[in-house]
Amino acid sequence: MTTAPPPAQADVAVIGAGPVGLLVALLLGRQGWQVEVLERQATAYGRPRAVHLDHEAARILQNAGIMDDLAPQTEVMDSYLWRNAAGTALLWLDGAPAVPTVSGWPASSMFHQPDLERLLAEAVSRQPGVRVRTGHDVQDVVTADESVSVQADGPGGVRAEVRARWVVGCDGADSRIRQLAGLDVTDHHYQAQWLIVDVRPAEPVRWSPLNVQVCDPARPTTAVSGGPGRRRFEFMRLPGDPQDSFDTPSTAWRLLEPWGLTPANAVLERHAVYTFGARLVDRWRRGRLLVAGDAAHQMPPFAGQGLCSGLRDAANLAWKLDIVLAGRAPETLLDGYGTERGSQVRPEIDFSVELGKIICVLDPAAAEARDLDFAPLAEAGPVPLPDRPPLGAGLLLPGDPHAGKVALQAPVGRDGSPHGTRLDDATGGGWVLLGYGGDGSDGADGTNPAGDLPAGLARWWASLGGRCFQLAAGEPLRDSTGGLRDSTGAYGQWFGTLERDTVLIRPDSYLFGTAAGPGAARGLVDALRSALAEGSDAEGEALGE
Ligand SMILES: Cc1cc2nc3c(=O)[nH]c(=O)nc-3n(C[C@H](O)[C@H](O)[C@H](O)COP(=O)(O)OP(=O)(O)OC[C@H]3O[C@@H](n4cnc5c(N)ncnc54)[C@H](O)[C@@H]3O)c2cc1C
Repeated sequence: MTTAPPPAQADVAVIGAGPVGLLVALLLGRQGWQVEVLERQATAYGRPRAVHLDHEAARILQNAGIMDDLAPQTEVMDSYLWRNAAGTALLWLDGAPAVPTVSGWPASSMFHQPDLERLLAEAVSRQPGVRVRTGHDVQDVVTADESVSVQADGPGGVRAEVRARWVVGCDGADSRIRQLAGLDVTDHHYQAQWLIVDVRPAEPVRWSPLNVQVCDPARPTTAVSGGPGRRRFEFMRLPGDPQDSFDTPSTAWRLLEPWGLTPANAVLERHAVYTFGARLVDRWRRGRLLVAGDAAHQMPPFAGQGLCSGLRDAANLAWKLDIVLAGRAPETLLDGYGTERGSQVRPEIDFSVELGKIICVLDPAAAEARDLDFAPLAEAGPVPLPDRPPLGAGLLLPGDPHAGKVALQAPVGRDGSPHGTRLDDATGGGWVLLGYGGDGSDGADGTNPAGDLPAGLARWWASLGGRCFQLAAGEPLRDSTGGLRDSTGAYGQWFGTLERDTVLIRPDSYLFGTAAGPGAARGLVDALRSALAEGSDAEGEALGE
């Protein structure tokens, strides 16, 4: 009989080493926490999935140190056309808006999910405090007062145990952690089966438009970039398609042929059939168990938001866990994770389902009626992708209409350099107080946050890892106070629209709050200190049961 090894101790156990679990582990590892990642599979998931990354997700990956390596492996989406069988445009989604996005990254980039997963796994492997154990299928969790015991079946049937203060279930759509935690799910009752195919043409092909949805009742089809050199096709399964031979190379080649792709000029990299669904957990936490990514929500891929949402979950949760683990806020701070994110994910699910309803029309008469409704709208030209709503209730400055929105990331000048640097690279990210205006001299004009904090508050802010920066319209006088230059004027405009001169940015790049005038920074930091002391003001989530 094999003897079970002694339990491993960790601050956080992450269940599932998909992209979301890896990002949670990476962000916590970078904060110095001990993280055990338990992954059922021995190797990375090999079937085709995400190809679309939005600007916010790109910024999250930038701040996790991944984007420098991923960006060269992406292809910027210029347009996303929805057309009918005859080629008439029904909907143009604008992938390349004239105004730069608030996050400082292209609105939409196309990529190959395994590239991201590899980069995340490499980054995680460089974290001394993070251990990833593959081949460990988590079976059970037992919660005690101060910790959770996670039990997994390891290789050779050896039982492994991890004792952690918090458990994050990033274990995908069929999440066992979600079930063990008893977290209910609301089903948005959407279902469709599609064959997903990734191909690599032998010679470079210029696809125009880059991304297209063919709303043809005879075979609804998606044809989009799969990152540089790759093409993603998605074919809806029709009622007459045989179940047993739909997910095969011969079916894939038959459906690819009208697109000019054959075994003679392309490589079929992978294919899989998925049943798309739309579901959202009612609560994201029970006691010491939390869920993130597909474990918390699933949506059809027409808006390309499933993974992006999961990355937003990870960025939101990681800093809250960091603060709670450090004893700087009560556990109730974690309740705000679900309320903040739930308000954003629900509309993403609804939008994805609505897009699905446009394309998944199989009745020719219904498709004709749809075309008559949509074609006039498309004639007006590309429409912007819908804005994401701000965060729901959580750790936000009460009553501030800007709290919960994304903080602008535009290029800023620093150290006298004429070239712009992305804001988060210039500040290093994390907790940031950013003042606008003046010349950077200490507090003279009330816009330098560093000069506005009394000593005690400044010490508290520094102990949180918070930093102060002033953005001057011209050349800053004092780089030592964190002087930055608004090299494009974007910040002048942004602060003008906000009608504020100081903002407090959270580590996930959302605004905690905004303020103006003398005492602005002091008020914001004071409010943050009180809010952290109280936990979350999120309603509807019971305190750690
Ligand atoms: C066809 C398709 C196209 C898509 N396109 C896009 C897109 O363009 N853009 C986008 O943003 N999203 C897209 N998505 C969604 C995206 O792929 C997923 O949202 C994302 O991969 C989910 O990541 P995750 O880490 O939450 O879960 P997963 O990647 O599913 O990882 C879960 C991990 O948990 C492990 N696990 C499960 N149970 C256990 C257990 N008991 N013990 C230990 N380990 C366990 C699994 O083995 C797995 O490795 C698409 C999805 C599909 C199917």
